[in-house]
Amino acid sequence: MSTMIVLATNNRKKVEEFEQILGKYDIEFKCVADFGPLPEPVEDGETFDDNAYKKALHYAKVLGVPAIADDSGLVVDALGGQPGVYSARYAGEKATDMDNCLKLLKNMEGVTDRTASFHCVLSLAVPSGPALTYEATCEGIITETLQGEGGFGYDPLFFFPALGKTFAEMTAEEKNMVSHRAKAVAELASEFPKVMKWVAQRLAEVKPPKPDHSQFEDNDWSS
Ligand code: IMP
Repeated sequence: MSTMIVLATNNRKKVEEFEQILGKYDIEFKCVADFGPLPEPVEDGETFDDNAYKKALHYAKVLGVPAIADDSGLVVDALGGQPGVYSARYAGEKATDMDNCLKLLKNMEGVTDRTASFHCVLSLAVPSGPALTYEATCEGIITETLQGEGGFGYDPLFFFPALGKTFAEMTAEEKNMVSHRAKAVAELASEFPKVMKWVAQRLAEVKPPKPDHSQFEDNDWSS
């Protein structure tokens, strides 16, 4: 019987990406949207690691199967690591990608050190709590203007020197060769047989409790 792993995303594209990379293993990948409305995890961690683990454990517990979550964001050196874990809501709770990019450009006005990196942490948690973590980064430079139409988030401001263009100017294939997320997934994929063994051992350690019928034993059913 194949093992089911839930991906903590509503994005079917991410599920397809995992299926493509890990398709040769006997795994059935599902995304949280496959289960209907579920309680949302609280993402109030101070690090990418905290948030990825919280998300993965939340869905592993709610659904009772192993879950993989990712957390990612942009770390700008001259801003002391901002926006970091606040990347999605840098310009406010309801901020759009454009709002966030414009706020970053404003905060970087006149700043000469423009080095930055994207970070991604993947956490694979089992319902009983333990988790494996994979982490990757991608180094770049914050541009002075928006460049390119593709991608999402801070892509138009993230210049990748080795290819001489921003993430927003790359094709999806180019970005998937170098991005923080692709590298973290590749790291997980590179040791997937070991990972599956680890998952099987963790799941076997926690046997479901035997049904407890003791409450019925003293009952008098004759009446
Ligand atoms: P999430 O953890 O994947 O939801 O990413 C959080 C936020 O980080 C996103 O809303 C983006 O603002 C930013 N981010 C993460 N990865 C990327 C990327 O590959 N390109 C641009 N922005 C990204």
